[in-house]
Order: sequence, then C-alpha cells, then structure tokens
Amino acid sequence: MAPVIGVTATLKEDVDSVAERPLGSFVRADLDYVAGVAQAGGIPIILPPLPGMAEEVAGSIDGLLLCGGSDLDPAYYGEEPIPELGVTLPVRDTFELTLVEQVLERGMPVFGICRGLQVLNVALGGTLYQDLPSQLHPDLIAHRQQMPKWQWTHEVEADGGSEIVKIMGSDHLRVNSYHHQAIKDLAEPLAAVAHTSDGVIEAVESHNLSERWLVGVQWHAEAMRDAGPEHRNLFEAHVEAAKRYALHRAAA
Ligand code: MN
Repeated sequence: MAPVIGVTATLKEDVDSVAERPLGSFVRADLDYVAGVAQAGGIPIILPPLPGMAEEVAGSIDGLLLCGGSDLDPAYYGEEPIPELGVTLPVRDTFELTLVEQVLERGMPVFGICRGLQVLNVALGGTLYQDLPSQLHPDLIAHRQQMPKWQWTHEVEADGGSEIVKIMGSDHLRVNSYHHQAIKDLAEPLAAVAHTSDGVIEAVESHNLSERWLVGVQWHAEAMRDAGPEHRNLFEAHVEAAKRYALHRAAA
C-alpha cells in the first residue's frame, strides 16, 4: 500500500506577460518534490496553505514533506526582523507551523528540505539565523550558488554514526546550496548530524528514527536525484517510514 505524502506548496501572484493583466493567485509546488515522492513509491498530495484546515489535513496524510521557499517570519522564534530578512508569506507560515504541530502530535514522519528543515527546527523550539552573511561570520563559504540546482557546490561532512549516513550511504556529501538562513539554536528533539567547513548545520535528525522519524536537510535533495542514489535514498527512507506509520494508524 502506497502511503500518502503531503507536499507543502507556496503562493504566487501571476501576471499575463503579454497583456500585463493580473491572472490571480496560484498555489505552486515544484515538480521535483512531487516527482521525488512518486519515484520513491509514495502518493504525493500538494497541500495548499489553508491554516484553518491543518488538523483535517494532518489526519489524511501518512507523511509530511516540508518544501523550500520564502523566509520564515522571525516572530515565530521571538525575534524582530533584521534588514537582510527576505520575503515572508504569513499564510504559508501559519499553515505550516500549525500543520507541523498536528503531525508531530500524531508521530508522523516529517522530511524537511531547506526552508522545511528550518520550519521543523522552529516548530520544535529552535531558532534561525535570519541572514547568514550578516549574522554568523564573514568567512562563510557560498551558500547561494549561481549554478543550476542539480549541480553540487559545496561539501558536507556528516557524523559517521548518524542515521542520515546510513540512509545516504556516505559521510562525505556533495550538495547544492540555495539558502541565506540556517539553524542557529537547535531544537532539543533534533541532533545536528552534518556541517559545512564554515560551521553551518546542513542536516538534522531525531535522536531515535525508529521511534520518531524526523529528518531535515539544508540542501535541495529533490533537485539532485539524478546526481546519485544518496539523494533519492532520503525520499525512499521517508516513504518507508510513512508506510510504517500508515500501518500503525490503520491498526489503531
Ligand atoms: Mn549550504
């Protein structure tokens, strides 16, 4: 039985480029996430940001994929915005944080990518750097690459004993990078298991994945599925965990 994986979406205002008339607001999901779930054997369902429906949505999925996108409002971790903060989408933030609270209560497997890892950390009580270059230190490597998203740009060293190394099959990872924010204070239920040479946290996991399956990566694994099996393995591990969750849910 294929598990249903909820894939978070964003909102986009669109304009007809020829007639220059507004076409309206659209729910938008990057096909790479959807394809990553489907390739791993899950049924991807795109979740529009409807804050009032978070509880019902949580009750109808077996796994949650938190996707990349806009900056999270720093008010969620008790900070005022700094000038370098990017665009925030209040409806998306509210929906995702309410949804994560609901799915964590249910013990559902969560896979966070880029912004998704950050949302997971904040939902669990952690904080973020609103902007790495201005807040961490000046000797940062480039975390906002100009190259295509399927091309790796920096290396990541993962802890040998971590679950993510078991999943990916390597502790030396080559990844893409499209972020200016990152985890500052790590939430207690998470372990930081992979870093870049400049000290940025690039992957997190829960302390016991068989009890509670939470994994987050700062890179866009969905865009690197053709670069090697290690990135596809993340989607497969999430779908497998969602299968176990679905069986448990059916038995309850
Ligand atoms: Mn990076």
